Amino acid sequence: MSGPVLVLNCGSSSVKYRLVQPASGESLADGVIERVDDYPKALQEVFDAVSAAGVSAGEIACVGHRVVHGGRRFYRPTLIGDELIAELEELAPLAPLHNPPGLLGINAARKLLPDVPHVAVFDTAFFHNLPAAAAEYAIDRDVADKWHIRRYGFHGTSHQYVSEQAAQFLGLPLESVNQIVLHLGNGASASAIAGGRPIDTSMGMTPMEGLVMGTRSGDVDPGIIMYLSRAAGMSVEDIDVLLNRRSGVSGLGGATDFRELHKRMDDGDEAAQLAYDVYIHRLRKYIGGYLALLGGADVITFTAGVGENDAAVRRDALAGLLALGIEVDEERNLSANRGARRISTDTSPVSVLVIPTNEELAIARACVDVCQVD
Ligand code: ADP
Repeated sequence: MSGPVLVLNCGSSSVKYRLVQPASGESLADGVIERVDDYPKALQEVFDAVSAAGVSAGEIACVGHRVVHGGRRFYRPTLIGDELIAELEELAPLAPLHNPPGLLGINAARKLLPDVPHVAVFDTAFFHNLPAAAAEYAIDRDVADKWHIRRYGFHGTSHQYVSEQAAQFLGLPLESVNQIVLHLGNGASASAIAGGRPIDTSMGMTPMEGLVMGTRSGDVDPGIIMYLSRAAGMSVEDIDVLLNRRSGVSGLGGATDFRELHKRMDDGDEAAQLAYDVYIHRLRKYIGGYLALLGGADVITFTAGVGENDAAVRRDALAGLLALGIEVDEERNLSANRGARRISTDTSPVSVLVIPTNEELAIARACVDVCQVD
């Protein structure tokens, strides 16, 4: 297969796209269509942009769709046909915010590009084989089985890509490395990976569990949900909006973007400071937990918008951990270099890296594998 792959990420209100040459990683076009309520129209805009970049529909080798939730069944990148779509529709209740727009995008893209193979790449895939001890919630087995309640994990494409890159950066075989990957973007998740296999991750049944995020709470006592329902009379929808959209650093500190959060902290804004402190506290708890699960890490890697760009978050997440073999070099951490880089000292037993994630490239390469096999 030759020719570029069009990677589509259709969210609840935006369509992100990138046209990638899978072998070289070269990006030929990319962009975001915001405030989408009409997917066929948004995808027409995507294809107009692709044409403007000088690539005709006939030249596109494959369309790769990021699908958030694959349930238990789907984990390998899968060629999309009518049957797969029907099965994905059945999975929609597992990820009500994410899968339905993804399906709308898939349907619209297939209509516009009917002669090109379309491939679904699942964000849960990398975590498909989490050990049962990490994947299961301690709730009634029958209820969990009936309703497919387990920890699926998300951002899998990024955790896999970044962990492979980290091993490569260190010049070590993936199988020999214990790693912690911290994907800190608007959504945020951590994973513990032993020899290339994830043994735990912070997101669970849905992308709400775990770390504090831009607008999502991450871990909360589930008792809060019952309490808000009984005492405050909030509906399920109200609580959903509260925990998904009015929480996280935004809910606590009034800003989603870490650049704005820091500005407010510098101005002495106590709410912003508290949001940051809670964010760092939770992050450190996960790092400590994963060090224990792994029996020590060889490498800790930061990635995504906050992880790649926010030196203060990286410093504070790992400050004072010399006793655990982790020492960040202040100057390296502050470097303006934006590529894959080491930020630990030369004598730090644990390597600390920053590696830009590239989910689109990882999706494009996964598509090539499927199209070549089928
Ligand atoms: P997502 O893919 O989850 O939407 P990203 O990985 O693109 O998110 O991360 C976006 C977030 O990264 C922004 O909300 C902001 O908090 C953070 N970010 C981006 N650039 C910077 C920067 N220069 N300094 C600090 N934080 C940044």
